[in-house]
Amino acid sequence: MSYIDNVLKNVKELHAAQPEFIQAATEVLDTIRVAVEADSKYEKYGVLERLIEPDRQIIFRVPWVDDKGQVHVNRGYRVQYNNALGPYKGGNRFHPSVNLSVVKFLGFEQIFKNSLTGLPIGGAKGGSDFDPKGKSEQEVMRFCHNFMNELYKYLGQDIDVPAGDIGVTAREIGFMYGQFKKLTDSYEGFITGKGLTYGGSLARKEATGFGLIYLVNEMLKANGTNIDGKVCTVSGSGNVAIYTAQKAQELGGKVVTMSDSNGWIYDEAGVDVDAVIQIKEIERGRISEYLKYRPNAKYTEGKGVWGVKCDIALPCATQNELLIDDAKALVANGCTAVGEGANMPSSLDAVEYFMANKVLFAPAKAANAGGVATSAMEMSQNSMRLSWTFEEVDQKLQGIMVNIFKNLDEAAKKVGAEGNYVLGANVAGFYKVAEAMIAQGVV
Ligand code: NDP
Repeated sequence: MSYIDNVLKNVKELHAAQPEFIQAATEVLDTIRVAVEADSKYEKYGVLERLIEPDRQIIFRVPWVDDKGQVHVNRGYRVQYNNALGPYKGGNRFHPSVNLSVVKFLGFEQIFKNSLTGLPIGGAKGGSDFDPKGKSEQEVMRFCHNFMNELYKYLGQDIDVPAGDIGVTAREIGFMYGQFKKLTDSYEGFITGKGLTYGGSLARKEATGFGLIYLVNEMLKANGTNIDGKVCTVSGSGNVAIYTAQKAQELGGKVVTMSDSNGWIYDEAGVDVDAVIQIKEIERGRISEYLKYRPNAKYTEGKGVWGVKCDIALPCATQNELLIDDAKALVANGCTAVGEGANMPSSLDAVEYFMANKVLFAPAKAANAGGVATSAMEMSQNSMRLSWTFEEVDQKLQGIMVNIFKNLDEAAKKVGAEGNYVLGANVAGFYKVAEAMIAQGVV
């Protein structure tokens, strides 16, 4: 049995109860086969076994008190996966679906994503099964403070720097920042996504969505076209989805759908992003309320975004939201490109189907790396005690996304798989981490 197959077999046996982690590990290991098998040093130095096993997994109890005085207990996680390239870096997610498998899949992917940015950041991820939805501001604050009461011990600007993710917005980050400062007396950039008055970076909020569109446009340009005039379907209506839709429309695309976990909207005229910002960011409402702003749009309960005819599909909600039947419907309707804004939104068979049908496919770890890249820029600004303008950050972000695409395009060509950007992203991300791990010895 080959080295890779043996490692994968062990992952499947040892972590049988962690399906999301197995899915992510399979996707990465299967595609770096060509690089790993070309050089026996990776096996000799046990690089894959060391990459698969996180440096550290922290699981902790988070008790908090609701507005009626009732005590609740949630579970907190932080998986510090690999710091060969720099301090651990990756968001915290607050959502009822969070468990160790989800945090491990996200943390594992984060290693390669962070490597691809070219910036000095290692991979980690964390979160809790706490759901901020429907909670009062005071309840959210009490939860965030108690979450930090344990987690602060493991964080620091040169150790581990979390950020936001699903359910963790600037509000939650502000509460976590306040408690970290209280506990440590240290005014340091130990978390990113902060408010602009206390160390946050301009353009961080927009970065993941903008970066996704910059990368997708680069991929389209490399294939003789661009986003101008293309019909796009977007899922989700959170941070990534909103700024994906905004940038796509700025560059001449027409976004016709958005969604949340209750249902989805179809607006043939092109989604009014300002209305979605008002509903989601300001009022914390539901996407169904969009009809108040655009009565001619349609709202449908449940799922359905991928059944809509489009040129470009942009999944921006959550993992495994685009399955094989969705991929078939998209291809049948003439979709020619997919850019993943969410982490692992497409199932393995859906990705294979896209590739087999010559759909240009930009995988999450490259396509949504703009968020973490801009977080790293927030860290730089904090260290320098400086703030860059929106334009400066946005320009650096564009440069990074163009460079990421160039790297994965070249990596794919180098191993004879031109146009296979999944393989290109994994191989390019892997080389850098593996070389650093080997250089640093067995630690
Ligand atoms: P938000 O919480 O801001 O938005 C998430 C959106 O997806 C909401 O519309 C939410 O609907 C929907 N959603 C979440 N979970 C589910 C579910 N289980 N089923 C259906 N819909 C769901 O999160 P972000 O926009 O920050 O993150 C979205 C994705 O992008 C995640 O995969 C995240 O890991 C990834 N990502 C985010 C980055 C960032 O900078 N924020 C960076 C890189 C990746 P509802 O409100 O109803 O829950």
